[in-house]
Amino acid sequence: MAKRRYKKKKLTLGKVILFILIVAILYGAYYYYQNVYKKKNQLPVEGELSFHFMMLGNDHSGDSVYIKAGDNDILIDAGSETNSVDEIKNYVNQYCTDGKLEYVIATHADSDHIAGFAGTTKANTSIFDFYDCGTIIDFPRTEKDTATYNRYVEKRDKEVQEGAKHFTALECYNQSKEGALRSYQLADSVYMNILYNYFYDHDASKENDYSVCVMFTHGDRNFLFTGDLERAGEEHLKNSGQLTQVELYKSGHHGSKTSSTTDFLKAIKPKKVVITCCAAEPEYGDGYGFPHQETINNISIYTDKVYVVSTCDPTLTNGAEYVGLNGNIVVVSAENDVTVNCSVTNAVLKDLEWFRKNRTMPSAWVS
Ligand SMILES: [Zn+2]
Repeated sequence: MAKRRYKKKKLTLGKVILFILIVAILYGAYYYYQNVYKKKNQLPVEGELSFHFMMLGNDHSGDSVYIKAGDNDILIDAGSETNSVDEIKNYVNQYCTDGKLEYVIATHADSDHIAGFAGTTKANTSIFDFYDCGTIIDFPRTEKDTATYNRYVEKRDKEVQEGAKHFTALECYNQSKEGALRSYQLADSVYMNILYNYFYDHDASKENDYSVCVMFTHGDRNFLFTGDLERAGEEHLKNSGQLTQVELYKSGHHGSKTSSTTDFLKAIKPKKVVITCCAAEPEYGDGYGFPHQETINNISIYTDKVYVVSTCDPTLTNGAEYVGLNGNIVVVSAENDVTVNCSVTNAVLKDLEWFRKNRTMPSAWVS
């Protein structure tokens, strides 16, 4: 009997050791994920307001900007292609942990801005499938009748049926519907202001000019987003008197020379500029790609703090479809300062190898 009891005791001890080992391994894995893996991939965000310009998982230019403002999670656009959804989701979920985007803005109907909202005909392929959206703000006008645009409308309307509010930017500016505001308070001293774009209620010759324009303010700092607004739209915006110097400007239309015109830049005198393109991607048929030299020259008068998301330049990609130039770019507005943190390098455009190989140094940047 004594021998049997001894055997039983030995077996129990083995189970206990095994249990401790499993717990230790699980804890080790959890600790690694929380303290090493997650931190390695998560860019630092301290402060009330941060803007995240994401790489979009392919070699196309497009926009998707995630903004954290106090407790609010905001997404402006979901380009560049439907395969960007996983990239956007994986990035956003590092910061947005409750599955809710308080505000979603779709600037205009081009697919490099709405593809991730439209998804495909299959289930669970749209950003709307993965988040509860509080308020959706989009463009009042479009000439588009593409499958992507029609799917966007279908998915947006389904989200509205499930409880989201939907306003056009014009309804926000005019405050013509209950809940539609010209200015949304997001946190202490942080506001999201919907600007008036002339082409909200006038016909434009270019789809890009229908873009929703938004100015975020943090105290006396301004952060400007104009989608793909081009020359005509910029001119009206400048003449409307709504512009002032900005801390940050997302270069209109991915750094195209059709945007960031000299008079417009004169009105906003940007301190920092982010260009959301896959540099040198010849998708618009000019064999040259964004950002255009003219845009760089125009911006160089005001700042050399210019950051570019990615490139597909074959001399730099080493066989890959694309690589990050600055990579994911995070601009943080903290109490005392505005800082930029990037996943690849914090170096500014003029110091990047891609720039030296592919563009000419503007005289304003020659020290
Ligand atoms: Zn675009």
